[in-house]
Amino acid sequence: MPEIACTFTDLDTAFMSQAFVQAKQALNRGEVPIGCVIVRDGSVIATGSNLTNETRNATMHAEMDAINKVNALLPDEDKSTAYSRCQLYVTCEPCIMCAGALSLLHFQEVVFGCANDRFGGCGSILSIHKTGCGGCGGQESAPGFQLKCRGGLMAAEAVALLKDFYATGNPKAPKPHRPLKQNAEASKEAAVEQLKEH
Ligand SMILES: [Zn+2]
Repeated sequence: MPEIACTFTDLDTAFMSQAFVQAKQALNRGEVPIGCVIVRDGSVIATGSNLTNETRNATMHAEMDAINKVNALLPDEDKSTAYSRCQLYVTCEPCIMCAGALSLLHFQEVVFGCANDRFGGCGSILSIHKTGCGGCGGQESAPGFQLKCRGGLMAAEAVALLKDFYATGNPKAPKPHRPLKQNAEASKEAAVEQLKEH
């Protein structure tokens, strides 16, 4: 989490509430319940939710879903600069991968709900928001982009949603390709562990 206590406005809460609508829809689809919205100039221009099960693509986190939607609607000439006018509201701290993506796109700001204690990239595990991300093949010596972050908005609600999901399990979870043990219980446990990584 960011070291400095964050303050939030009613508008922040309104946008985060829309991210929660997405998270709850993800839960209803059997996905990890994380949702987000991307705001530009005070308006929501895209929503996103976790799609890793539906797409069988482990990188399709809520942030990636929303970024893909923004890219689909922007004219090409705006794609490289558009995100510097965008704020992301997401119910859970972006993971290391997503924090890198948000940094590469030069988002104006990220506001998140609960901390991601296992894989958070905005202060919980790594501080990609401070170091930036050079990208694959990027220049390691290039100074990173500093991503402005505020965290902790509606955090209790975000944790409750995630607990709901992990308490009931996920019937749509893909089975591991190579279970370590052949009995069904071991496979189920491995699937749950895989899910926790999303
Ligand atoms: Zn992520």
